Amino acid sequence: MQTNEEINYDQLWKDVLSEIEMTTSKTSFSMWFKDTGISNFNDGVVYIGVPNNFVKDWLLNKYHKFIIGALRNNNPAIRGVDYIIVSKDNQDIIHKNTVPHKFNYTPSSGEQLGFNEFNIDKEANLNPRYTFDSYVVAPFNEIAHAAAISVAKNPGNLYNPLFIYGGVGLGKTHLLQSIGNEMKKNNPGAKVYYLTSEKFANEYVSSIQNKTTNSFKEKYRKYNLLIVDDIQFFSDKLKIQEEFFHVFNSLYESGNQIVFSSDKSPQHIVGLEERLRSRFEGGMMIDVSPPEYEERLAILKVKISQKNFTLDEEVINYIAEVIKENIRELEGALNSIIGQSKIRGRILTLSEVEDILRKKIKPIKVVDAEHVIKTILNYYKITEKNLTERTRRKEIVKPRQIAMYILRNDLNTSYPHIGRRFGQKDHTTVIHAYKKISEEIRRDKKLEQEINNIRDIIYK
Ligand code: ADP
Ligand code: MG
Repeated sequence: MQTNEEINYDQLWKDVLSEIEMTTSKTSFSMWFKDTGISNFNDGVVYIGVPNNFVKDWLLNKYHKFIIGALRNNNPAIRGVDYIIVSKDNQDIIHKNTVPHKFNYTPSSGEQLGFNEFNIDKEANLNPRYTFDSYVVAPFNEIAHAAAISVAKNPGNLYNPLFIYGGVGLGKTHLLQSIGNEMKKNNPGAKVYYLTSEKFANEYVSSIQNKTTNSFKEKYRKYNLLIVDDIQFFSDKLKIQEEFFHVFNSLYESGNQIVFSSDKSPQHIVGLEERLRSRFEGGMMIDVSPPEYEERLAILKVKISQKNFTLDEEVINYIAEVIKENIRELEGALNSIIGQSKIRGRILTLSEVEDILRKKIKPIKVVDAEHVIKTILNYYKITEKNLTERTRRKEIVKPRQIAMYILRNDLNTSYPHIGRRFGQKDHTTVIHAYKKISEEIRRDKKLEQEINNIRDIIYK
């Protein structure tokens, strides 16, 4: 097991705090995290020192998941987190565990912890780690990368707004923040601001409570570059969307740049007002897809050399082969391996790496045509017989067409094959169903939502 000496608590906690700082409001960040620090690490559990019970409960209820996730990202050997109360003079520890404590931090009464020294650029809310230099470009992200570069060089011009969408861990936040960092580098006077849409929503709500909506409105109209991450959070929040719509217009009309990310395209964000959707779609929309094997390999190699580490070629190939999901997972896997390797004091063998990663890999759910059909039968409460019978009843025809659509769209099943499965129907019938549903989804958001619900069940 890793010993305490091997972990630099201060650095670790700073890294975690920089992640938290980006996603919370300034006020709550300083309120809840000011006098905190890592006090000990024992048997995989990190003990976080907090000033009082109130903070302890709050962290436990509101931030626990986030803290543990951020800690693990930085050090995969961490299994759990506990909070202990540490008095200001750093002496008496009120705490339910009997773990011996070795404090190497002094709860700050201000500057001591280096609370003001985090790497985050306070004004722009940017993490300096996210730059174009540290971003690996490969075919799956090269268009997004090129657009980001050109926006950074020439903001407010060609691609406005820039809208980047794709699944988690594919580098959207990294790319968005790179634009901000690059623009600040080229033009230190530029007013740049990064935030998540969740933070925007929270700030707006508190400005109403505190009767400061005017200064809220003013604040967001002054930026040369506004970056709003994870815009899908605006889904169904109409009041916030309205407020944001005005912010958008005012920035846009004065030639300022706006950049967004989302986990889906504007078309697929449920409960997004039409006028906002059309603004998003009015600029440049680019999707980032998951990296292919060779691309994962390239990213891994860069990351390994950035971390001054070495691994056998066959081990690198193995990691790239089994960790398919995204770049965050890839980094996590690499960190686990580096962590284990440090503990054991040597480079690991392929079979040791296999052992470590086996625990990380989720079994891939095999979705086949029968699984899709079964899910749809259950969803609409119709029977296998209904699939093939001759009828024009809407409650049968609709599920049938949706099933055909999903089989074609998601599983790429051939039209003749689908036709046979639905009682020897001609392939033109299947093509008709596919086209019909594709078109209806575009017009009918409720249908789209319904089909997405079915998909959630299918892929759960
Ligand atoms: P997303 O916002 O799409 O969920 P992030 O930007 O948070 O993804 O990326 C997850 C992790 O992977 C981050 O640590 C990021 O630095 C890293 N990463 C993603 N894409 C790249 C890339 N192309 N090159 C280098 N690192 C990357
Ligand atoms: Mg992100």
